[in-house]
Amino acid sequence: MFRWLRKKLKEFFSTLREFPDYAESPERYKLLRRNIVVLMLVVTILPLTLMGLINHYLYRQAMHDEIVRPLKILVNKTKHSFELFLAERLSTVSFIASSYTCSELADNNNLSRIFSVMKKEFIGVVDLGFLDPNGVQVSYDGPYKLRGKNYKDHDWYKETRVRGAYVSDVFLGYRKLPHIVMAVERSVPGVCLGCVLRATIDTNRFMELIASMRLEPDSDAFLLNKKGVFQTPSKFYGQVLETFPMPLPPLSYEPNVVETEDPNGREILLTYAYFESLPFILMVIKPRGLVMQAWYTLKTEAFFIFVAGVLLIFLVVFKLTDKLVKHLEESDLRREAAYREIQESSKLASIGRLAAGVAHEINNPLAIINEKAGLIKDLTQFSPDFPQKDKLLSLTGTILQSVDRCRTITQRLLGFARRMEVTVESLNLNEVIEEVLSFVEKEALHRNIELHLSLAQDLPRIASDRGQLQQVFLNIINNAFEAVEDGGRVTITSFEVDDDTVAVSIQDNGQGMTQEVMNHIFEPFFTTKRGKGTGLGLSITYGIVKKLGGDIKVASKLGEGTTFTVFLPKKAQARKGE
Ligand code: ADP
Ligand code: MG
Repeated sequence: MFRWLRKKLKEFFSTLREFPDYAESPERYKLLRRNIVVLMLVVTILPLTLMGLINHYLYRQAMHDEIVRPLKILVNKTKHSFELFLAERLSTVSFIASSYTCSELADNNNLSRIFSVMKKEFIGVVDLGFLDPNGVQVSYDGPYKLRGKNYKDHDWYKETRVRGAYVSDVFLGYRKLPHIVMAVERSVPGVCLGCVLRATIDTNRFMELIASMRLEPDSDAFLLNKKGVFQTPSKFYGQVLETFPMPLPPLSYEPNVVETEDPNGREILLTYAYFESLPFILMVIKPRGLVMQAWYTLKTEAFFIFVAGVLLIFLVVFKLTDKLVKHLEESDLRREAAYREIQESSKLASIGRLAAGVAHEINNPLAIINEKAGLIKDLTQFSPDFPQKDKLLSLTGTILQSVDRCRTITQRLLGFARRMEVTVESLNLNEVIEEVLSFVEKEALHRNIELHLSLAQDLPRIASDRGQLQQVFLNIINNAFEAVEDGGRVTITSFEVDDDTVAVSIQDNGQGMTQEVMNHIFEPFFTTKRGKGTGLGLSITYGIVKKLGGDIKVASKLGEGTTFTVFLPKKAQARKGE
């Protein structure tokens, strides 16, 4: 468990450390989120569950004890009542047997007198009889006519002769009514041998004792003999002398409780106790549901609280982690963008310096070439008989042309590198755009390019640098013209973005760019127009816009077109440095 947790923790922190670059692995945040969620859930829900389980068991034990104790007390008390009741009567029979002589007991009048006293003193005694050594009942008093009956073959009689005293199970006997017999042997050596005094006890008294337990209607209590035969009727499991339909619980003289299921499928709590000296088992059966009601309620409540707690934890963990990771992701993205920008501008700056140096160096030889070529041209032109004059003239013309082109490039390079001082004036962007368009209108006409203007008439004036803005728009519009086929369309829109910003977008339906190209367009010297392009237009544009405190966004789809949007602050703030 701990090893697992340690491994997970390690994994978690390594996900934090690894993958420094967002672009390289956006997977990282998914992993991070998953790890945090799993860890937080484990460290919160695991202890909660453990606590819950421990509580559950402790409570269950306590509740169980609490419920079972009164049951045990009740069974114990009732068992004692039974024992007392039977012991009292047995000792009375025993007392009578030893207080009178055999002949006195064999005399029916005498026996009747004794019985009438006994009946008065002890409830539950039904009759009294005295048996001679042959098992014949020689004297008897009671509601039945049992005098002269021979009990020689009855179990209780045999048991009494063997043990000296005996309390029988419930049986029907001659009278066909459930009763128990208590018998005591009377033997006085030389006078009488093997005579037996017996009394019958009514089992109604048993029922009264059980009724005195005052059980709920769906509880049951009864007496069994040790073979599992009902001695008193049961509400649910059988009548007197029927057999108890379940296996007997293990022997225990102390009250004991077992949880089982009865033949009807009811969950029950069976409380019982065996009698030590009597052939009985006392049982109390209660439906488990009823007894454990309080426990079930508590359990359900606890369970709901637990579930609610877990849900809450889940919710909080998910929300929190989501927020956290999103935040992290955003700040990583921002950091990376800033990093890129710094890289871009420092690259621009160093390349600019390099370019300026090169341009400067090249300018001198260029001037010399220009001058010398001009000289050659003049010389040729003015010497009338120069052979191959025309050829030479056209050659020098080409040289001069090329030098001119070189000069434009060096000029541009120098302009790109120069720390441009911004001269801010209040201007109308729409005007600037129209000025730029006047440069390109001819080409548009010539190439049949459709020029759409959608300029916001109420566009607020902004404070910015006119010349630089002209260059910006000229570069972008030139690119758009180069991207479209003859007959293509270029749309220029100006609009107000918010309280601080206005924007101009230049949209074309030209060839568009791939993502790969888009990633590089602002780099100096990056061009896809081999031979024709310098790759400086957009990098210069970018530099200017940044300097003016604005921004450029590009959207492009290969084969469909490109939109450049230039955002400008209403008040230009010249950026320092660069
Ligand atoms: P150049 O125009 O000299 O090639 P730029 O810096 O102006 O250099 O542009 C760089 C590259 O950006 C171009 O070569 C081209 O591939 C791409 N690009 C610029 N604008 C557009 C556009 N409107 N449509 C398609 N590609 C463009
Ligand atoms: Mg260009």
